[in-house]
Amino acid sequence: MTITASVDRTIRLIASGTASGETCTPELLEAPWEIDLERPGYGPGASMADPIPADSPRQGELPQEYREASDDELAGRIRAARRRLGDRVMILGHFYQREEVVRFADFVGDSFQLANAAKANPAAEAIVFCGVHFMAETADILTSGRQSVILPNLAAGCSMADMADIDSVEEAWEQLMELYADERPDPDAGGRAPVIPVTYMNSSAALKAFCGRHGGIVCTSSNAATVLRWAFERGSRVLFFPDQHLGRNTAKAMGVPVERMPLWNPRRRLGGNDAESLRDARVILWQGFCSVHKRFTVSQIERARAEHEDVRVIVHPECSMEVVDAADEHGSTDYIVKAIQGAPAGSTFAIGTEINLVQRLAAEYPQHTIFCLDSVVCPCSTMYRIHPGYLAWVLESLVEGRVVNRVQVDEDTAADARIALERMLAARPDTTMAA
Ligand code: SF4
Repeated sequence: MTITASVDRTIRLIASGTASGETCTPELLEAPWEIDLERPGYGPGASMADPIPADSPRQGELPQEYREASDDELAGRIRAARRRLGDRVMILGHFYQREEVVRFADFVGDSFQLANAAKANPAAEAIVFCGVHFMAETADILTSGRQSVILPNLAAGCSMADMADIDSVEEAWEQLMELYADERPDPDAGGRAPVIPVTYMNSSAALKAFCGRHGGIVCTSSNAATVLRWAFERGSRVLFFPDQHLGRNTAKAMGVPVERMPLWNPRRRLGGNDAESLRDARVILWQGFCSVHKRFTVSQIERARAEHEDVRVIVHPECSMEVVDAADEHGSTDYIVKAIQGAPAGSTFAIGTEINLVQRLAAEYPQHTIFCLDSVVCPCSTMYRIHPGYLAWVLESLVEGRVVNRVQVDEDTAADARIALERMLAARPDTTMAA
């Protein structure tokens, strides 16, 4: 079967000279298992230069039969295993997954939509989550212990989520508590705390649990403003992690001056700030970012406008403030999908988000002109670690009665994380979207 919207295929065509264009690295052509053991890291693609934490999960060797199988053979084996497993298994595919994987998914969406899809399907004994590690953790937190959540390649982490580890956040919290020790909750101001921790959905279960323990909350890219409002009702400030851009873009749109949003560098005392600026802060932004969305620039927007008169530029809020300010609109992946669905035929869109989603949208909506702002083909390197070979392996293992690559959050962490997730749902029960 030819997959027309395949980023993988585009990369191969560019590499062979059959198609014009540019990719960010020739290493994209390497199979993910080439780097599982020899070069543990995020893999080729947009976040390959980000330093990987030493304790990141590692993927063991994929059995040879899956490494050597052709694309057609893998597709046939995945279909056959899927048929044999029936309703016992549910395959979830994130918007940013390669087409060769997404086509087998029972449900495609953003991270929180997928976690909710898993929760809504208690009959499935195994949830095969084609996404990245924090997403599988969230699905495990929200599903029953009877269900196994499986990540086909354990090396599919998220470099942004990994930029805020629990030890650094605990240390930052200690420093802030010391700094704000003289700020007693003021009963006249509703007993507000000095600072409320807010974590983006794109974070480890340990950070969600931290927020649950410390009066904090989780947010998604769809509900970040609602969540910040919730936090400001309860605290004088917010400590926002791990994505500085989502925090800054959201708080700025709510009227928080940029000068009152200091950046917290976890490697420096007080995050590299002086005490005064932290006392004056409204939102303390963790120094994390998404390497995929960091690639979008104002000059790309200018070029899109110069080349397409009526172009609508929509970018994800993980892009920098300058890019969000220069775009026509910004919003979550769900916002982008709905904007395209609702547009009159013949519309032109320049999209600032991951290339797999943009190429798929361009194929699904041929009545529009849809292109990625970044002309260089550079997928999310961690999403790209999920290859059909791993999917075939985890499914055939299930057929044989073996659960491989299970992602499991310990019960204490899960219980605290659920508190922060439930606060988010209570802040706006109809909000279920994420990056
Ligand atoms: S696109 Fe960015 S935030 Fe999403 S998984 Fe990749 S690195 Fe993480």
